[in-house]
Amino acid sequence: NKQVLLGDYVNGFPKETDMFLSTKTIQLKVPEGSRAVLVKNLYLSCDPYMRNRMTKPDGEPSIGDSFKPGSTITGYGVAKVLDSGDPDFKTGDLVWGITGWEEYSLIDTKHESLFKIHHTDIPLSFYTGILGMPGMTAYAGFYEVCSPKRGENVLISAASGGVGQLVGQFAKLMGCYVVGSAGSKEKVDLLKNKLGFDEAFNYKEEHDLDAALKRYFPRGIDIYFENVGGKMLDAVLLNMRPHGRIAACGMISQYNLPQPEGVHNLFCLITNRIRMQGFVVFDYFHLYPRFLEFVLPNIRQGKIVYVEDKAVGLESAPAALAGLFSGRNVGKQVVVVARG
Ligand code: NDP
Repeated sequence: NKQVLLGDYVNGFPKETDMFLSTKTIQLKVPEGSRAVLVKNLYLSCDPYMRNRMTKPDGEPSIGDSFKPGSTITGYGVAKVLDSGDPDFKTGDLVWGITGWEEYSLIDTKHESLFKIHHTDIPLSFYTGILGMPGMTAYAGFYEVCSPKRGENVLISAASGGVGQLVGQFAKLMGCYVVGSAGSKEKVDLLKNKLGFDEAFNYKEEHDLDAALKRYFPRGIDIYFENVGGKMLDAVLLNMRPHGRIAACGMISQYNLPQPEGVHNLFCLITNRIRMQGFVVFDYFHLYPRFLEFVLPNIRQGKIVYVEDKAVGLESAPAALAGLFSGRNVGKQVVVVARG
């Protein structure tokens, strides 16, 4: 069983060499009497929160426990059941949920949630993205946290990524004016030409983010879907309309810094009566059936598209994960482990 393990705890930007490959012989059977499920992993998801789990625990609140050095990385994935001690799963079932970064995983369904895949007319890898955790994040963050209204002005940062590209498309379905920021010309073109955003800009080429936002939002921003934090957040605060909403989903620009950057313009929250709300997708998983009802027809009718960046082979996973922090991924970063 080929596996990806964490080397030591990570400081600063994660590197491919912070993880290493190893091989272990395993039984391809669930141990007698165990209620676990043995799966063959097909697709693995690279998600920014996994970086936070590589940090040495320091008592600060975090999302998920830290991985232990020398242990297998875990994260969301899509897999096929090979053997099952849990009556809810049978051999041949396709599932998504938390699995290991390895070819085969023994999953304890008491501790990790595993969801059965019922809709197989959609690409299976989509269950790491639009039909998985990032999709739920976009759905809950936009509809539950942003309180959107038809025609509002919406800005999304890290807009071409796994979450951002969906928020933009959801907002377009509501008739909003939608602008995305992203880190390359290729991503800007993708947002405007494939994902239906009204406008997009490369934040790395804007020396004055405040001026850029005034250019795209002469009448101000009603909704900011925050994925990056730092300088972008500071500039956005100067451009929010009265009673605007900021959904604080992530702050990826801060994850690798020894000290978070200061945000200077928070007083604007008061003067403009802005609601800024952080949220964690795990609190919204009960909405998953409703989300599927909404999103599946939209995918089938081509009203929502989903851009993936597929790295092939388990050995490509460490570089793919590290690449999230330099913007190497164009679309949702997936690792293809096996195709069935
Ligand atoms: P993405 O697919 O968007 O990948 C990360 C992207 O972030 C990169 O491609 C890069 O795009 C951008 N980025 C990296 N470093 C920086 C930086 N220093 N400044 C600005 N942008 C940067 O990831 P996801 O869509 O999966 O996640 C987006 C955000 O949502 C993250 O902050 C993540 O932590 C958060 N999240 C929160 C959840 C919750 O429950 N609250 C759940 C899931 C995700 P570019 O080239 O445009 O810079």
